[in-house]
Amino acid sequence: MLRFERVKIREEEPEKRLKSFTLEPTIGYSNDEATAEASRCIGCNMCTQACPASLDIGGYINSTAIGDPAQTVRIVFENLPFPAIIGRVCTHNCEDICVMYDTGGPLAIRHLKRYAADKFDDYSKILNVKKRAFLNKKVAVIGAGPAGMSTAYYLAIQGVKVTVFESLPVTGGFMRVGIPRYRLPADVIDKEIQYIQSQGVDIRLNTTVGKDVQFNDIMEEYDSVFLGVGNHKPRMTGTPGSDANNIMHATEFLKRVALGEKINVGKNVIVIGGGFTANDAARISQRLGAKNVYIMYRRRETDRPGYPSMNADEEMEESLDEGINYMWEVTPFEYAKTGETITSIKYWENQMVSDGAGRSKPVPNKEKTFSMDIDFIIEATGQETNFSFLGEDYAKRLKLTPQGHIIVDQNGMTSIPKLFSGGDSTNLTRDLISAVRDGDTAVMGILNYLNLMDRVNEEYLPLLDRWKKFSPLSAKMAYPERIR
Ligand SMILES: Cc1cc2nc3c(=O)[nH]c(=O)nc-3n(C[C@H](O)[C@H](O)[C@H](O)COP(=O)(O)OP(=O)(O)OC[C@H]3O[C@@H](n4cnc5c(N)ncnc54)[C@H](O)[C@@H]3O)c2cc1C
Ligand code: SF4
Repeated sequence: MLRFERVKIREEEPEKRLKSFTLEPTIGYSNDEATAEASRCIGCNMCTQACPASLDIGGYINSTAIGDPAQTVRIVFENLPFPAIIGRVCTHNCEDICVMYDTGGPLAIRHLKRYAADKFDDYSKILNVKKRAFLNKKVAVIGAGPAGMSTAYYLAIQGVKVTVFESLPVTGGFMRVGIPRYRLPADVIDKEIQYIQSQGVDIRLNTTVGKDVQFNDIMEEYDSVFLGVGNHKPRMTGTPGSDANNIMHATEFLKRVALGEKINVGKNVIVIGGGFTANDAARISQRLGAKNVYIMYRRRETDRPGYPSMNADEEMEESLDEGINYMWEVTPFEYAKTGETITSIKYWENQMVSDGAGRSKPVPNKEKTFSMDIDFIIEATGQETNFSFLGEDYAKRLKLTPQGHIIVDQNGMTSIPKLFSGGDSTNLTRDLISAVRDGDTAVMGILNYLNLMDRVNEEYLPLLDRWKKFSPLSAKMAYPERIR
């Protein structure tokens, strides 16, 4: 029977979620639900055009529709080695443009990917990547986040020797120490990183480049180097009172909680910001025992990062269900202290003022001031790349945009020959799937740079810009075996 309505994903009760650091808000599809949902897809592959990593979405949804989740995972792995992770926390822009959007709702592309990936504990059994002879080239990857680990994977399966240097005691970057465990369980990250390691990738944890090993030495020793260092230097507001003992940047806060610390946040918590990080910090504060959690954002609800998108709506719905409060169009101007501790936050209300061009600006109305008692402040006000590991000479040679992003060419190479880069330190979209896309681009760039293209196995190359091949008609012609 032709079905139009999106198959609803089942959810855990918010009260139950709040008691747990690890309980996922959504419950994965059953076999019947996944088949029913996947069968709604008409295989037009419009969605591929919105996917930063250019996944063959129509192709893999079709595999699930015909009951072959292993083939779904194989197709996803053509460009992305994290199907279960991305199947949970992708920004899923693909769903925003699904042609079924107004016909029962967009295909649940993200949930379907999770369904297929969760079927397999060990990908090596279904992927069967054949061991390749060593190509006599060594590549260093700095940072074990999604950009670095994707790059490492697609190079390693070609026979390149890859060493990953990571300062933290854990792998995954912000997948592990940013996104909380209730959104992304530890065993899901472990499964996907361990599979990459099983392909011969050597990961050196607790090794900070610039401290434990010098960047200069890495550049000399390796044939090529990939930077996947992300943005880990907190940007604080500097509001008067910020030198207190009960204020923390959100990424520091989430990292410490992810590494096992129980931070005492008291009862009343204010989070300053409006994006992913603010929501996660707020929801973690509740799980640490806070009773009243407010997110303060200086612009309107419709100006928040990521809006408009299904992802931004879902994120806010989950937060609201769990009792998070939002305060729009407010600007804190003082954290009032008693001794070394902030006891209240003083703020103005804003008005959004358009200057006729570009985005409206929040302008505080300073005639009226407001105050709230608080126990803990978390600033989710962005972060930037820490370039101190480069040393003076390389720092001078690495070209950055005026906003501080690393400039790369279309092959992912920086202004320094043999040095490639991707992920949050480099792109403007700053999400997981864009980090993976940058890894894919750099893999092709590095293989070209090392003159390995005539020795690679084409079957294992990430397929860039697949969307160029796809129009509603050409999808069928390109993959007749996959598209009905
Ligand atoms: C709280 C939070 C929630 C998020 N939620 C989502 C979400 O739901 N969906 C989504 O798509 N994206 C989300 N993001 C964004 C996403 O996590 C990032 O875009 C992505 O992780 C960037 O990948 P990356 O590989 O560039 O960097 P990272 O993941 O940041 O990894 C960089 C790694 O490099 C290491 N490193 C840095 N410098 C050095 C050095 N000198 N030596 C050795 N190692 C070094 C770091 O320790 C880190 O492990 C979220 C981010 C945060 C902070
Ligand atoms: S946009 Fe993608 S998910 Fe939606 S119907 Fe077309 S192929 Fe299927």
